[in-house]
Parts: sequence; structure tokens; C-alpha cells
Amino acid sequence: MGWVKRSASEIAKMRRAGRVVAEMHEATRAAAREGATTADLDRAARAVLDRRGARSNFLNYHGFPAVICASPNDVVVHGIPGPYRLKEGDIVSIDCGAIVEGYHGDAAFTMGIGAIAPAARRLLEVTEASLWAGIEQMRAGNRLNHIGRAVQEVAEKAGFSVVREYTGHGIGTAMHEDPSVPNYYPGHPGPLLQPGMVLAVEPMVNAGRSGTRTLDDGWSVVTIDGGLSAHFEHTIAVTEDGPEVLTRL
Ligand code: MG
Ligand code: MG
Repeated sequence: MGWVKRSASEIAKMRRAGRVVAEMHEATRAAAREGATTADLDRAARAVLDRRGARSNFLNYHGFPAVICASPNDVVVHGIPGPYRLKEGDIVSIDCGAIVEGYHGDAAFTMGIGAIAPAARRLLEVTEASLWAGIEQMRAGNRLNHIGRAVQEVAEKAGFSVVREYTGHGIGTAMHEDPSVPNYYPGHPGPLLQPGMVLAVEPMVNAGRSGTRTLDDGWSVVTIDGGLSAHFEHTIAVTEDGPEVLTRL
């Protein structure tokens, strides 16, 4: 497994990429109101990339046509921004990425549009809490799969299920590097975490069953049972002092 440890100067560049991603989150969150299309969110995110002189790691990734993924309701991940118009009661997952000086940031969040059902609110809260439980495990001396074990425990205790077909990942000079970071315990503890390792941790949590399928557009991943799905992600470095979240302001 080609897991790269990053130097302090590399992590400084990833911090700058992460800051751009956090600004994309702010801009898309502000744009995500009732009546806006998911293409409007993509435009808001592009404006941040342009302003910061950052490149997109999503655009043209295996042919992906946008700088964000926008995934409403039963769309788990990889939704293509387009004509879908957000309406009150929707939830929408927004995944953003940026490259600064050759280094990548990647982070996602899910939000409600206007008033949302209590069950949807709880799904968002639990999924975000599962991310933070995973991040809390990102300490030198812990094992890689402690992350997924913590994510899974939070999600399943709440009666939800974690998606298994898609995982978090190492990140650095490419968006997706080794190792993959499952959101469940795969039955073995995995390698030791050490300072300099940088991961994108990204629980995808379904209200119903964990299964997914891909729509005919070749990208949009939806829940197999049509239930809601939420997605939260940060890019995090393991440091001597514990986890450092790089994708927030
Ligand atoms: Mg992402
Ligand atoms: Mg990711």
C-alpha cells in the first residue's frame, strides 16, 4: 500500500487547498435556497475557485462535468449539478474540491432547504457526528480501521446504515490516494496511523438500507430503497498533536 507521509510544507499547501474548499462550502451553502438549481450551486463554487486562482479536481475527473457534486434526497453521492430545482424540505449533499500548488482538498456537507422533517434533521446530525467520531480516532498509534469502526457505531446506534460501496481515501498530490478508508470495521485493524498521514474521511449514511445503485447518467449513486442519504467529509492530517482538519475556515 503506497501510503505517503506528507511533510510540514506539503501539509501547509493542503491547508491552503482546504481553505478554498471551505470557502466553496460557504458559497454553496448560501446559494442553496428554495428555487435555486443545483447548477446554481456549481456556479457559486466556480466563482470561489476563480477568485482564489485554484483548480478544480472534480471537473473532468473521469469526465465529470462540474466542480462540485450536488446530491439531493435519495442521491448518496456524485450527483451532477443541473436543472434540479431545490424545494423546501429537501436535503442536499454538496461535495467540493480544489487544487492549490498541486495539493488537493476534498470535503462535503449535507444541508436542509427551509424546514425539513425531524427524521431528515436527525439523519444530518447523526451523519455529521459520525464524521467527527471518525476524526477523533485520527491519532498516531491508533489503527486506520478505528476510524470506520467509530463512524459505524454512531450511525448504527441511531438506527441508520453506512454505505459500503464507497469509502474515504488518502489525499495529497492526487484527490484519491491509498489507503481507502471504509466507514465500517472490515474485520481487521489495518495499519498504524502516523504523523504526516492525510485522509479524506467521508461517511455516507442512509436512513434505510445500506445498498446503492447508479443511475443511467453513469454518476448519480442513489439508495436502493429510495430513502434519504447524507454525506459529510473533511480532509484531515494526523499530527503529533492529534487530528488537524484542513478543510475548514
Ligand atoms: Mg468529496
Ligand atoms: Mg472524498
